[in-house]
Amino acid sequence: MPRHYRTCNLCEATCGITIETEGRRIVSIEADQADPLSRGYICPKAYALKDVYEDEDRIRRPMIRREGTWREVSWDEAIARAAAGLHEAQRRHGPDALATYIGNPTGHNLPAFLALPAFLRMLGTHNRFSASSVDQFPKMLAVYLMFGAQLSVPVPDVDRSDYLLVLGANPLVSNGSLMTAPGMKWRLREIRQRGGRVVVIDPRRSETAQAASEHLFVKPGSDALLLMALLATLFEEGLGSLGAAEGRVIGLEALQAMVAPFAAERVSAAVGIQAGDIRRLAREFCAAPSAACYTRIGTCVQEYGTLANWLGDALNVVSGNLDKPGGVMFPQPAASYSGKGSYKRWRSRIRRLPEFGGELPVACLSEEIETPGSGQVRALVTMGGNPALSTPNGARLESAMASLDFMVSIDPALNETTRLADVLLPPRSPLENTQYSLVFHKLAVRDTAKLCRPVFEPEPGSWSEWEILAALSAELIRLRSLDSVAAGGPPIENPTATHFATTPDLFISMLLGSGPYGLSLADIEAVPSGIDLGPLKEGGIERQVRHEDGKIRLMHEDIENEALRLAAALDGGAFTKHDDAPDAFLLIGRRQLRTNNSWMHNCRTLIKGPERCTLLMHPSDASRLGLKHGCAVTVTSRVGSVALPLDVTDEMMPGVVSIPHGFGHTRKGTRMRNAAAKPGVSINDLTDESVTEGLCGNGILTGVRVCVNASERAIV
Ligand code: SF4
Repeated sequence: MPRHYRTCNLCEATCGITIETEGRRIVSIEADQADPLSRGYICPKAYALKDVYEDEDRIRRPMIRREGTWREVSWDEAIARAAAGLHEAQRRHGPDALATYIGNPTGHNLPAFLALPAFLRMLGTHNRFSASSVDQFPKMLAVYLMFGAQLSVPVPDVDRSDYLLVLGANPLVSNGSLMTAPGMKWRLREIRQRGGRVVVIDPRRSETAQAASEHLFVKPGSDALLLMALLATLFEEGLGSLGAAEGRVIGLEALQAMVAPFAAERVSAAVGIQAGDIRRLAREFCAAPSAACYTRIGTCVQEYGTLANWLGDALNVVSGNLDKPGGVMFPQPAASYSGKGSYKRWRSRIRRLPEFGGELPVACLSEEIETPGSGQVRALVTMGGNPALSTPNGARLESAMASLDFMVSIDPALNETTRLADVLLPPRSPLENTQYSLVFHKLAVRDTAKLCRPVFEPEPGSWSEWEILAALSAELIRLRSLDSVAAGGPPIENPTATHFATTPDLFISMLLGSGPYGLSLADIEAVPSGIDLGPLKEGGIERQVRHEDGKIRLMHEDIENEALRLAAALDGGAFTKHDDAPDAFLLIGRRQLRTNNSWMHNCRTLIKGPERCTLLMHPSDASRLGLKHGCAVTVTSRVGSVALPLDVTDEMMPGVVSIPHGFGHTRKGTRMRNAAAKPGVSINDLTDESVTEGLCGNGILTGVRVCVNASERAIV
């Protein structure tokens, strides 16, 4: 039976797996014990690759929707129709009339990842959006400001760390995010076994918190204050030293001055942690032989998200833990494909939110579609995304998308978003493509290199994203050229022709050849489980700090302004002023082991078992409201209301409730039958698109003000 060595493409952890096949069937999926990064770890989701591949609901042929009815068509007809609709929107209303939304599976699929930049450049629109502005822009902007590039992310060297401080992350379940760390269950245990400490700060006693040495509840949205106080303690008590960053920083004194007003005693009530504990954490962190502060999604999806993430790395730098084994280090991948990024080159038309990395925050997409005037979005291309469920106030965006003149979705799922498209272009399964992760090797806690050849020959008549975007580009340019000639101008050359004349294999080959290890495709193919390039390496400051002078910025004007805003909010009581109503709560999301995003809810093996879309609430709150475990509750925010079952648990901080993300499969017209059988509710029918993170416009998905009451509504 053929055995294939692959990387699981379902999440950022990139675990090594082996897949046995018989004909076009997957017979078994197992952990690859020889994979040097994942060391034999996989999670239950890996088995769902079989479900995803064999899913009868997966769209395999292009389709066109007319008057509410889908019809399978040839690729030629679909591409012609898609290009004509997109071209018409731009011809009549200008380049910005076309918007794009890219979902996160694109980062896991080489043909899509390599094809996108050329395609997006060719479209020429400023209205580009992606899932990055849902949950990770603040972390990327923080490293952009501090280190000079949006993917210069130092990752915790968890395999050698003596102290791991985790804020707003649940790596035991996620296996890392913007930190590729498969098998965190083992890695966390090993930290403790070698005498180290894991401390988790979270409004929920998450799975990671349960495995940690210590867990402290924190009020949702107050992480920036806590990090300010940790830094203030460090400076006040003279605990830090720059270590490898000595002589390589600018702004140390300004940082010290900025954090000084945020003493532990001053922020304690606002963050919900005793001042003595805050000071103790700062001392422990600085006294540990090596320590790493890891800030992730919970710290991103709040008002001071960029500031919080920036402070997390500032703590790593001034405690001497940047570029130090066991601290936070810059991976050195065998091949790399990322630019420095950009910030504020343009702004959104209505709310004036800033561009970051060539994109605008998706929180403003609905108003850009709904508001008439020059630059109004009239057409949309989505690729591998489901913004109707995954972005703030998804219901408003859903209705805005339904009003578009034209929409194309490049997606194998007929989901809550793609059902609104006029043309659906389904790419072939990632298992039928060669894969090499240009993104996640760059974020991994160990340097490795792994190439995965296709498990199956492509299904006859199937196209990859590379072929789809190449064909769409060529047809769009052909239409533009016809217009130009008709207007008496010259024909237009296809600017993407050179890009698409090459192949993903050639790209990888060139990137590997120019990489630090000088590897070839053949070198990597010869080791099917992946080449081990060793633990993270020192010298990352020289390699990855990309400001022209090579110096780390410990101060930036925007960060300073955010700190002033934070101080004013603290003084104004924003963190302590509670709604007097007894049914008022702060809502947070949560990640679950058996799901990732909305698209995995159609996997039969993953959705079986108990209801997972429940509202978590502390027993004292439930008792005060007279609510019983298992009863139905209604949760209401400024933008909407949902009804779901109540799960009473002391995992939750009193006053805080939690709903997992990605559910809400109740919309008509989808083809996700398993998901629809256990639909749950969408947390983004409660989150508010009108409020955004201060510097980059990321959505605010944590600490959302809601009311909870016994429900009279039936739960679907
Ligand atoms: S953690 Fe699970 S879903 Fe993620 S890559 Fe590993 S096996 Fe796949």
